Amino acid sequence: MANINAAAAHQAKPSPYDSFLARFNVAADIINLDQRFRDILSSPERVMIVNLPVKLDDGTTRVFEGYRVVHSTVMGPSKGGIRYASFVDLDEVKALAGWMTFKCALVGLPYGGAKGGITLNPKIRSTDELERITRAYTRALKDVFGEDSDIPAPDMGTGGREMAWIFHEYSRTYGYTPGVVTGKPLHLGGSKGRIPATGWGVMLTSLLAVEKLGKKVEECTCAVQGFGNVGSWAAKLLSDEGMKIVAISDHTGGYYNHDGIDVRDAVKHLKAHGTLESYHGATPFSNEELLAMDVDVLVPAAIENVITKDNANDIKARLIVEGANGPVSSDADAILDEKGMLIVPDILANSGGVTVSYFEWVQNRRGHYYSEEEIRDKTAPILSEAFEKVYNTHKEYNCSMRIAAYIVAIERLATGIDLEGNY
Ligand code: GLU
Repeated sequence: MANINAAAAHQAKPSPYDSFLARFNVAADIINLDQRFRDILSSPERVMIVNLPVKLDDGTTRVFEGYRVVHSTVMGPSKGGIRYASFVDLDEVKALAGWMTFKCALVGLPYGGAKGGITLNPKIRSTDELERITRAYTRALKDVFGEDSDIPAPDMGTGGREMAWIFHEYSRTYGYTPGVVTGKPLHLGGSKGRIPATGWGVMLTSLLAVEKLGKKVEECTCAVQGFGNVGSWAAKLLSDEGMKIVAISDHTGGYYNHDGIDVRDAVKHLKAHGTLESYHGATPFSNEELLAMDVDVLVPAAIENVITKDNANDIKARLIVEGANGPVSSDADAILDEKGMLIVPDILANSGGVTVSYFEWVQNRRGHYYSEEEIRDKTAPILSEAFEKVYNTHKEYNCSMRIAAYIVAIERLATGIDLEGNY
């Protein structure tokens, strides 16, 4: 009976890695991808599980499970963030690593893809505990990480503080190596513009998509699901461009204002209280209602699987721009395609983060630092070019922008694998 329940629970949550493979196979079928490339790209190069004994503040020891998955190094050193969340598991980290490979190939960065994670709730851990856990994770993976081999970065539940610990712990063994990790604080070799970068890319790709739909940004309404680093910056920058943000949400629920939310005010509330709860500038409603809102643009910027076959029929937005990785599971694709929705897929929409990470790494290695304006001037054409390429491929093959993005990435990766020869 227990087994049946466990199986049912597992089935209830679509596997992110299955979603990754399902899209990969659709794209591979369209371009008749050789079986050799399919086999190589559908399995990660290395999968590491580390068990980290860490002393807690109360004197007891707890073993935390961590992961690092290197999906591909065909295009260069593997690149990708580290996630701290209580739901992190290997399947999710494998999917996130695969998406990083495709994301970097799509925007043409000289990187492969990886992802890491530790199963823990950072909200219930003290700063000291988080530091000990992060240092233990770094020590366990210090032979995997390296500025020419595998370069971590922030993801959900981690930020500049954790990257600083990784940088320092790694440098204790190998000497000063700022390029081993990106998303560092500015004082330790971080890049200007890295914090807003992902939200900034979401804003830029949203504007490009709105234009393709023949709409004006000032005429569009938008709902942003998730108000972390990506969602809050995307909401702020989109509202600066004139879009009306009518709804935002975090784990405490959704917040709606027909006349438009003052995003800066909402960010102030978040900073003061830690959540959006009891935010006075909007009426509370549920996250489910937010996803089903009749808006022009929906930005899911929280976690995977918020749109699945169970609620895909309720989605009314004309345009979905995926700030999060994997917010739409593959079982929802056919339903959303049928509705004729335009979806800017995660590996394109949120690629601004890793693109600025790349410039951070370049700056660290050259010891020469750019202004925020220079960073933006370098990043914007990379994202616009990738957007145009995906949009044209979607027209050429008459497929969704998601499948088009996979096609562009696969073609580049397959060329790379082919050029490496047989060994
Ligand atoms: N975690 C971010 C992502 O999913 C950034 C990765 C990076 O900067 O390497 O794209």
